[in-house]
Amino acid sequence: MKILVINCGSSSLKYQLIDMVDEEVLAKGLCERIGIEGSRIKHTPANKETIIKETPMKNHTVAVQLVLDALTNSEHGVIKSMDEIMAVGHRVVHGGESFSSSVIIDNNVKQAIESCIDLAPLHNPANLIGINACEELMPNTPMVAVFDTAFHQTMPKKAYLYAIPYEMYKKHKVRKYGFHGTSHKYVAYRTAEILGKPIEDLKIVVCHLGNGASICAVQNGKSIDTSMGFTPLEGLVMGTRSGDIDPAVISFLSEKEHLSTQEVMDVLNKKSGILGLSQISSDFRDIENAIDQGNSDAQTAMDVFEYRVAKYIGAYAASMNGVDAVVFTAGLGENNGIVRKNICSYLQYLGLQVDDEKNDCRGIERDFSMEGSKVRCLVVPTNQELMIARETKTLLKK
Ligand code: AMP
Repeated sequence: MKILVINCGSSSLKYQLIDMVDEEVLAKGLCERIGIEGSRIKHTPANKETIIKETPMKNHTVAVQLVLDALTNSEHGVIKSMDEIMAVGHRVVHGGESFSSSVIIDNNVKQAIESCIDLAPLHNPANLIGINACEELMPNTPMVAVFDTAFHQTMPKKAYLYAIPYEMYKKHKVRKYGFHGTSHKYVAYRTAEILGKPIEDLKIVVCHLGNGASICAVQNGKSIDTSMGFTPLEGLVMGTRSGDIDPAVISFLSEKEHLSTQEVMDVLNKKSGILGLSQISSDFRDIENAIDQGNSDAQTAMDVFEYRVAKYIGAYAASMNGVDAVVFTAGLGENNGIVRKNICSYLQYLGLQVDDEKNDCRGIERDFSMEGSKVRCLVVPTNQELMIARETKTLLKK
């Protein structure tokens, strides 16, 4: 049984074709910088060389088409035709209150995903584009949606309620939902395996630091709090999102800049974060390059980003009354040792000590704490694709 997993992010699209008999990845790849200059597809068939092709990708539809072409290509493809794909598992960011678990996609499900676009304006449209593009090319193949919000359904009321009139929660379900759940769950469980301890005995803070970024407190294998909220806008500073701000800023800016509420929300979702602060780019690599060239705005953007991450880790250490491991994952968390070190430098009071040599790594599983460090710090590359494939397989069997 071969399952294609599609993970459409706001500026990237990851994919894997997995043979579920032995969970072997037949091919995987990444389309990056979608919608911005310098986009490229990196396609890696198992046991063959990686192919990197720089090509314009003005949107996600173009990216999905490139993925399908790569998988069936006569030279570097791994299947002869689309018929070999038994199902497609799609990462979908926001399921609102409609979905607390994965589902087979039909028109009603697509409508429900569409109705959540207000809650995840950067992601749900990209997820739907991925679903529609695959349906067009594989009309008889089942599609499954796996929601980022599901893992966080274990949060206690004290963590998910906002201190607004209670009837507003009852009436409109305004509450913290949390996102990146598939990633947080995979990373937390993998961390327990690496540490050789039962997940039930561990207090783990998972830092998912990519273009979208969130932190999750995982106690006894369950999400007890997370930094994203009603929408993915809350919490950390991100590529283009502000993260936490005083809500009064919205009406203030609306008045001063003569913007509608929607226009201010657009600024907070699409023009803020490290892009807004640096005025350079939403991509952390561009920020790194600018810092290397002595750009002080880029440095400030990175300082604000790292400081916010450290504050959340401290908060979640308090939430769990302790922390055994701080784990870094996603594009930036897996690849940028300087950012990891800077964040960890705020955490020495917890007894967390970094081994600089071990921290000098990219994209591999690594415990980079010093021997004797009271809190372990690790890099664990996320594997949302495998989690999504497992969920898809389970639903197909049902
Ligand atoms: P994600 O959303 O997980 O795909 O992460 C995207 C972010 O991770 C972008 O801002 C990238 O700049 C950053 N990133 C990805 N790969 C690298 C790398 N090799 N080195 C530094 N940053 C990276």
